Amino acid sequence: MGDQFDQAQALDQLLNDVALANHFSRVERVRPLVIDGELCCVACEEPIEPERLGTAVTPGRCIICQQRHEREVRRYG
Ligand SMILES: [Zn+2]
Repeated sequence: MGDQFDQAQALDQLLNDVALANHFSRVERVRPLVIDGELCCVACEEPIEPERLGTAVTPGRCIICQQRHEREVRRYG
């Protein structure tokens, strides 16, 4: 199954990028969960929106959980 192999490679590359981004951001080190080959939010375990994976510095959470997290960080420092 060439498709699966390509997917695995793409996922591997993506996780490398995430690790690198987290390394340089130093803000938080959140790695998304991988469930059934999909990157999923660490908070709610739902698949993370694909558009978020392309741009996010810390894509460990889905948009909803990330926004909630940022609100809490602002509130509690
Ligand atoms: Zn979530």
